[in-house]
Amino acid sequence: MKKTLTKRTIDELVDEIKSKVELLRGTTIENATNKDIYYAISSIVNEEINKSWTQTEENYKQKQPKQIYYLSMEFLIGRLVESNLLNIGLLKECNEAIVKLGYSPEDIYAQEKDPGLGNGGLGRLAACFLESMASLSYPGHGCGIRYRYGMFEQRFINGHQTELPDYWLKEEYPWEIRKAEEAVEVHFGGEVHMFKKRNGSLEFRHENTDKVLAVPYDVPVVGYNNQVVNTLRMWSAESPAVESDLQTSHTAQYYHHLEHNRSIEQISGFLYPDDSSYEGKILRIRQQYFLVSASLKSILREYKQNVRRSLAHLPEKVVIQINDTHPSLTVPELMRILMDEEGFGWEKAWEITSNVVAYTNHTTLSEALEKWPKDMIKSLLPRLYMIIDEINERFCQGIWFDYPELRDKIPEMAIIADDQIHMARLAVVGSFSVNGVAKLHTEILKKQEMKNFYALYPEKFNNKTNGITHRRWLMQVNPKLTSLITETIGPRWISRPNELTNLLRYSKDRPFLDKLGQIKRANKESLANFIHEKTGIVVDENSIFDVQIKRLHEYKRQLLNIFHVIHLYNELKNHPQLDITPRTFIFGAKAAPGYYFAKEIIKLINTVASIVNHDPEIKGKLKVIFLENYNVSLAERIIPAADLSEQISTAGKEASGTGNMKMMMNGALTIGTLDGANIEIKNLVGDPNIFIFGLQSEEVFEYYRTGAYVARDIYNTDERIADIMNQLNGGEFGSQEIEFKDIYYHLLYNNDPYFILKDFDAYTETQQLVDQEYRDKDTWLSKSLINIAHSGKFSSDRTIQEYANDIWKIQKQ
Ligand SMILES: *Cc1c(COP(=O)(O)O)cnc(C)c1O
Repeated sequence: MKKTLTKRTIDELVDEIKSKVELLRGTTIENATNKDIYYAISSIVNEEINKSWTQTEENYKQKQPKQIYYLSMEFLIGRLVESNLLNIGLLKECNEAIVKLGYSPEDIYAQEKDPGLGNGGLGRLAACFLESMASLSYPGHGCGIRYRYGMFEQRFINGHQTELPDYWLKEEYPWEIRKAEEAVEVHFGGEVHMFKKRNGSLEFRHENTDKVLAVPYDVPVVGYNNQVVNTLRMWSAESPAVESDLQTSHTAQYYHHLEHNRSIEQISGFLYPDDSSYEGKILRIRQQYFLVSASLKSILREYKQNVRRSLAHLPEKVVIQINDTHPSLTVPELMRILMDEEGFGWEKAWEITSNVVAYTNHTTLSEALEKWPKDMIKSLLPRLYMIIDEINERFCQGIWFDYPELRDKIPEMAIIADDQIHMARLAVVGSFSVNGVAKLHTEILKKQEMKNFYALYPEKFNNKTNGITHRRWLMQVNPKLTSLITETIGPRWISRPNELTNLLRYSKDRPFLDKLGQIKRANKESLANFIHEKTGIVVDENSIFDVQIKRLHEYKRQLLNIFHVIHLYNELKNHPQLDITPRTFIFGAKAAPGYYFAKEIIKLINTVASIVNHDPEIKGKLKVIFLENYNVSLAERIIPAADLSEQISTAGKEASGTGNMKMMMNGALTIGTLDGANIEIKNLVGDPNIFIFGLQSEEVFEYYRTGAYVARDIYNTDERIADIMNQLNGGEFGSQEIEFKDIYYHLLYNNDPYFILKDFDAYTETQQLVDQEYRDKDTWLSKSLINIAHSGKFSSDRTIQEYANDIWKIQKQ
């Protein structure tokens, strides 16, 4: 497309901001607050975006390309003001204009509420994918839910996590546009009536349903430097208008009506704060159907308006990629629409549906496998239940007759089994593509978790290793490093991130490495200032910034990390002269509110932090910082300052990880297990440039299979571990007594299911290697550079290119 961006000088921008402050905010620039400036800038940016948005939509209308709809219950988009400025090419100019007006860009951008419409990796991936699709000029859009309350805000009180509601819409959100005229109705409950038509076929009428109005709020997804603006459409649940006499008469009926409205609005009321585990609540399945039904209605309406051909051609024009099983009701809902509303027979409807839907699996953790009681679905979505039942019958019969060798596997493959609907099975059967999110993860799906389905449909299975957008996670968060890279190898890497490998030539270049070191140092200073501001604690910029930021989950093993910290502390208390490289351990993590054990680990980390940080004997050697409320904005501050990236999940448990990629791209070295994408990072950078330790996934599976691991044996033989465990069991820690008996008992009596004790020795030893290697600054910097140079592979542009080529079969526009 033609590039017709309105380029501005800094002075022009200054004038525009002034005039926006006056016209939009009704104040003068002398009296303008940070908020006034923020809204003025977002308005300028929106005017620029809106021109391209209309053009992009017009272009799609005319060319009618195949379009991608990425359905996800979560989009963790982060703040948009800076990334939109970056992508329309105005970020540098705007920063300077803000400074010229006497304000701080950082303070202005921080005025934006960070929408927490996701839990973690899965939601952030969805956001990176949208940004990459737009930046690569692909016609791809997001469909999600506009939760009124996002991810809770985390505060620590006496070291305990407390949750505060996140009402992020308190002030106007400038990036959304309400499209009331494009609202659709979503139907719940009701009864299904069957009629025999004159030609003998059956017709189903779904009556007396509860109607919910789905109102879309569109957020622009701005491509980098290409004038493409795609759409993230987020649905809000409202009650449909009712007759006016009901609204004014103060009868019992009226109050009943108000109550009903409230229950409707609940559907988009809040985000479920559980990561990697599901809550089998009825409201959650209502949310899922709401997303699916509203999105499908809007997708099909658009198809009918633009394509004007039979829906038999839908697979030529539409792919629906479902982000995990959460939107897997797409399969029966599309079947329902095609049969009941569009008059297709089963076979044709099935052919269309199963050629439109593609499914991404995100985890093999059993607690995350969605299963819904069939009676719940039957009463909430009676027609969908009938269709799922029929899909299941045909599927099981198909195996029975056509795959006799799989007959005895039917009970473990059936979509409806033991009175539950197995959503992953529904998604695999009803889609044309099933992908995992890193090589190891996809292999585990094929060889273990889904081996029967792989035997049945080998052609469906494929891998798409996750990625992150290098525009937000390098250019936006680390402008100094970005400038150094461009000065060194030119700007082509921005559109071809693989060309970051051109940096490899500088891995021994002293002046270059010096600059790299200065940049990391400056980023660490700025994080140190932030830490001081937030916690009052002074950290040493020369210490190793050892970072673990991710959701708090047992499999991610924050507990292993804090065991290492306790061990170092014990060592220093016993041997005050011990020569260790000073370290600052930085944590960020939210626990699901109902996840008791995760919350105990938070309390433990905070307890250890308060003792270590205030012990005069430890001064200058160790600090432990647990920053509150980990979210995208906090990640953006921490990641450019990280020296060491902790990716220490129990092998086989972390499907991919993306935090690992963000930190690698900013020059951190990884300490990690052979899990998820860590393996692919290791294969690129090579063994000397990453710290790998611990059990491998095969060993973990073997221990689970044989039960040969006995945690107590390690407790009995490793004195360091016995010391730590006894401290947790009401022992002395520094000058204090601490008590974390639940952790103690869990590890010993539940036999340490995540192999914390088992991997402790290898982890500690590898951390000692880190300690030694960090002392040689030049070698460390050279390794840091090698990591940056290979990180282009993990740009989500590469991931999206693979989805486009292998699954979606779409062309750039
Ligand atoms: C990237 C990101 C994640 C995912 O981190 P992992 O280490 O891959 O689990 C979670 N939360 C936020 C806010 C992120 O930015």
